[in-house]
Amino acid sequence: MFRIIKSVPKCLFGKGSFNQLGDLLEEKRINDDSCFVFLVDDCFKNKPIEKKIPLKRADYIIWVNVDNEPKTFVVDSIRDQIKNSKEGIPAAVIGIGGGSILDYAKAVSVMLTNNGSSSLYQGLNLAKNQGVYHIGIPTLSGTGAEVSMTAVLTGPEKKLGIKGEFTPFDLIVLDPELIYDAPKNQRFYTGMDSYIHNVESLNGIYKNCISESYAIQSQALCREVFLNDNITREEADEKLMVSSYFGGLSIGHSEVGVCHALSYGLSYVLDFHHGIANCIAFNQLEDIYGPAVRDFHTMVEKHKIDIPFGISKGLTLEQFEKMAITAFGLDHMWRHAFGLDWAKHVSKEKIIDWYKRM
Ligand code: NAD
Ligand code: ZN
Repeated sequence: MFRIIKSVPKCLFGKGSFNQLGDLLEEKRINDDSCFVFLVDDCFKNKPIEKKIPLKRADYIIWVNVDNEPKTFVVDSIRDQIKNSKEGIPAAVIGIGGGSILDYAKAVSVMLTNNGSSSLYQGLNLAKNQGVYHIGIPTLSGTGAEVSMTAVLTGPEKKLGIKGEFTPFDLIVLDPELIYDAPKNQRFYTGMDSYIHNVESLNGIYKNCISESYAIQSQALCREVFLNDNITREEADEKLMVSSYFGGLSIGHSEVGVCHALSYGLSYVLDFHHGIANCIAFNQLEDIYGPAVRDFHTMVEKHKIDIPFGISKGLTLEQFEKMAITAFGLDHMWRHAFGLDWAKHVSKEKIIDWYKRM
């Protein structure tokens, strides 16, 4: 079966493009009573970006904390806060932040027009109604969340996205200036998400000419960012943004693989954020992704990045088991990486062995 991939219809790209947001929003304002709600990473409170947010009339900001990755109960509470406000349903929801905020914005948009808890919509095409117009503005690059059809959420029972045609943003604003101040380690961890998306997209049965074309270009940009000595920071930021965008499109048409399956287990049980969890796992996957992992080691050394090691020391059998069950359950990722008979190559014991290396 072939899948239909929906991407973002509109993309504004360029250094300083964030300054055009105010004008774009005015075009969107439906009537005098409608307002815009900005979901903004609370790390930007009292930072220059706060002053640049074009608030007018009844528009308001909801500061969102992402110390923990997006949870269904937080989506529900933001949705309720918006619905119960005197302004009611807004004309648009605008997410400003890293992948976590982008996913919150996508999920809140869908949940403003679909009843019940967001945990009921974790899965494919479960939402029935079109969401509120939503705009994504990344402040970190690598996840591809700006273009994906998924809002990844952890619910009471699982970490699984709200995925479907109502999820992707209506507009994204890619302004490389917004990622300039990202801390070195975080920039690397999130940037490596793109690198790993491409490696995984290219190595599996679901790859096709489209996914391969995006991945090759995305990978070339990512390698320039992290391996080229002669690149300026401004050039690197532009390329990283585009790498993330293409990497997200690539996995949309293909699939992630072994590293992401293991990474989901690390995030679900040990609460590691996605980027760093990927790096912890990928660091130990030379047996699967060979040269790409060796290049990753070079990038880590070159940029003097701390990749946690020894994280499995002191874990209980129960924790190993829970991580393995989480990872093993992502059968689409294993199928992509090892083929239709993947279960012959992967077992919970093998997964636990991988975790023990980390
Ligand atoms: P993040 O959004 O989780 O943020 C990581 C940290 O960086 C946070 O502390 C945040 O406050 C901070 N931060 C963000 N921008 C900053 C900036 N410019 N300067 C300083 N600090 C900044 O990080 P991420 O790696 O972008 O996103 C990870 C999330 O993306 C996970 O929740 C993951 O599940 C999700 N994800 C989604 C998709 C998708 O297709 N929807 C794909 C991959 C990952
Ligand atoms: Zn990822």
